[in-house]
Amino acid sequence: MDTRLRNLLDYSLDELKVLMKAEGFAPFRGEQVYKWIYQGRDFDEMTNLPKEMRQSMSEKFSSGKLKIFKKLTSELDGTIKYLFDTGDGNLIESVLMKYKYGYTACISSQVGCKMGCTFCASAKCGFIRDLTPGECLGQIIGMNTDNGVTITRVVIMGIGEPLDNYDNIVKFLHLINDKEGLNISYRNISLSTCGLADKIVRLADENLPITLCISLHNPIDEQRSVIMPVNRKYALDKLLDACNIYRLRTNRRITFEYALIKGVNDSQEHASRLVKLIRGILCHVNLIPVNEVSDTGFVTVDREAVERFKALLEKDGINVTIRRSLGRDIEAACGQLRRSAINGEE
Ligand code: SAH
Repeated sequence: MDTRLRNLLDYSLDELKVLMKAEGFAPFRGEQVYKWIYQGRDFDEMTNLPKEMRQSMSEKFSSGKLKIFKKLTSELDGTIKYLFDTGDGNLIESVLMKYKYGYTACISSQVGCKMGCTFCASAKCGFIRDLTPGECLGQIIGMNTDNGVTITRVVIMGIGEPLDNYDNIVKFLHLINDKEGLNISYRNISLSTCGLADKIVRLADENLPITLCISLHNPIDEQRSVIMPVNRKYALDKLLDACNIYRLRTNRRITFEYALIKGVNDSQEHASRLVKLIRGILCHVNLIPVNEVSDTGFVTVDREAVERFKALLEKDGINVTIRRSLGRDIEAACGQLRRSAINGEE
């Protein structure tokens, strides 16, 4: 995809009809093009359009189809990890996971990330640019068409901080829900943030009933600020206030993600401070044994330690789940594939 061309996946159906008209085509051509691009087709495959139209369109626009740069399939659980080429020399990492109830996509929201969390592989590669709404959709469409499947759930938990790319992500959320497009329900979408409190409050007003996931990882301000620099700007009280507002306006249960790191945030004291912090909010905690990323120095916890931490939270009435880790053999976790591709590793 040439990013100098305008990406048709950035347009809603109504906008596409207007665009077609402005280009001198009948508005119904907009509907035809819309159907094709959501099937991951390029202009040369749009067989119900006149040849000249396809030709002139391809000179100005891109169909939004992302080229697969690399693809790895897990032999353990069938998880497929993609590196898509954006056409301007950048790589986006996306993951397709199969669960009992269907296919889930984990997508990226930015090329790189500015947030600087010390345990995260994405942070190590710096920030390059935001992804457009169409590039977010393109990841889902690319995985649908490559596998002949229909993704019904989406988690915005890949590379990037979605709320740092606020307008594009909100537009993407509107597009993804369109009945004529991917028709994915808001309730099947989760957005994960490191805690940009002002944007969480803004999101609460968008009337989009998606699940908000907060990367909490430490209930003590001084410690959280060390592993997550964002905490210096939005401390825990501000973050929790924002979560409360989100919870009350949307009536959705909040998910707090907690990656357990050995000797850093896994003590009894951490468990009891965590309970104090989130008690009173309708929420659940998702425990994740941290994925070890080279050069971070962080060490993961064993299953027993996760169970122990879980029991401490449950004793105080908190709902807890332990995240099942998929694709361990293909670096499916947290930006590791893009990092190794950038560093020229195989
Ligand atoms: N920027 C967003 C979304 C991307 S990260 C956010 O911070 O939530 C998606 C999730 O993976 C976050 O919960 C993040 O904290 C977590 N994560 C990052 N690196 C990890 C690692 N090495 N092990 C386990 N989880 C990690």
